[in-house]
Amino acid sequence: MNALDHEELLVRRGDRSGLYTVIAVHSTTLGPALGGCRLWHYPSTADGVDDAMRLARAMTYKAAAAGLDLGGGKGVICADGGGPPRGGARRAALLDFADAVASLDGRYITAEDVGTSSADIAVMAERTTHVVGLPRELGGMGDPSPVTARGVEAAIRACCRRRLRSDELGGVHVAVIGLGHVGSHLARNLAAAGAELTVSDIDPRRRAVADALAARWIDPEIEVVAECDVLAPCALGGTITAENVDALRCEIVCGAANNVLAEDALAEDLAEREIIYAPDFIANAGGLINVYAELHQLEEEQVGELVDGIGDCMGRVLDAAERRSITPLDAAYELAAERLGGAPAAQAA
Ligand code: NAD
Repeated sequence: MNALDHEELLVRRGDRSGLYTVIAVHSTTLGPALGGCRLWHYPSTADGVDDAMRLARAMTYKAAAAGLDLGGGKGVICADGGGPPRGGARRAALLDFADAVASLDGRYITAEDVGTSSADIAVMAERTTHVVGLPRELGGMGDPSPVTARGVEAAIRACCRRRLRSDELGGVHVAVIGLGHVGSHLARNLAAAGAELTVSDIDPRRRAVADALAARWIDPEIEVVAECDVLAPCALGGTITAENVDALRCEIVCGAANNVLAEDALAEDLAEREIIYAPDFIANAGGLINVYAELHQLEEEQVGELVDGIGDCMGRVLDAAERRSITPLDAAYELAAERLGGAPAAQAA
């Protein structure tokens, strides 16, 4: 179980669905705790609770470092082993979760996450107003991935400025792992900026994206050790592990995936190998900025400024890391802790 430094934990069995729903509120110091709802099958409900708590804590740091007036929270619906619920069973699970959100009176605001979509958020909105990430036709900001990709690009440029002495991406070799929503937008942006691209995805249908961009396609088995300037993990978490960290052949790791490092201690290994690691919660804050904009009805220009600020934030993190001889990950936790009032930032377990 994660260290218990959370404000609130709600575990409820839904009346309609019979499924366990979990909401972890890590912090409301800077504002209401915002974080997506994950619909996932876990080996046990305790694993779902653990995941919600770990992810809620990461959301606190993400919002704090991005300069947003939001706290950190996360929701989980523990699906059973028969695949994601559909039709009436899915609706029942979503309404049960929404009732749990409503019971927290705005201390937690939910959004989409792995396993849920903006259409699911629209169902939840039938039972609670504490939702963001609605479809555009219902007043939402729509798909966050283009905004996330723009923020990752800003972070990559900040890392290149430091390591390659220029933030121009022409000729810079980037390996994008995972060509899903964010990865494909990122690959398109990078190609437009003149970067040389190597890409991979476990779904062979994504090869069409690679072909359209004239990118080199590699086998996902060897993607992590691709020789490149920038490795951009945009698939699921845990890309860098104790087993593969010594085999990496890149200068920079900077992507959209949450929990790129299987464990925080790997940031030290990367630093020893002189590989710049862009902390994921800084690089991928664009998705959170997108829903923050929905919450506060921001104009497109204001959203653009916040997203481009991710590059400045990454620059400050890298400066602090160099100045104080600490890892960029520790520097990022310190930056977040400063905004949270100096409380020491407990690292994600
Ligand atoms: P997605 O599901 O659309 O795309 C993920 C892609 O990765 C899929 O195409 C999948 O086939 C591929 N994939 C899975 N495992 C792989 C592997 N081992 N090797 C290669 N490819 C693999 O998800 P997304 O919305 O693009 O999000 C990508 C990552 O970014 C996730 O970790 C997500 O949590 C994080 N993130 C996304 C957003 C957003 O705006 N969507 C915001 C912040 C963080």
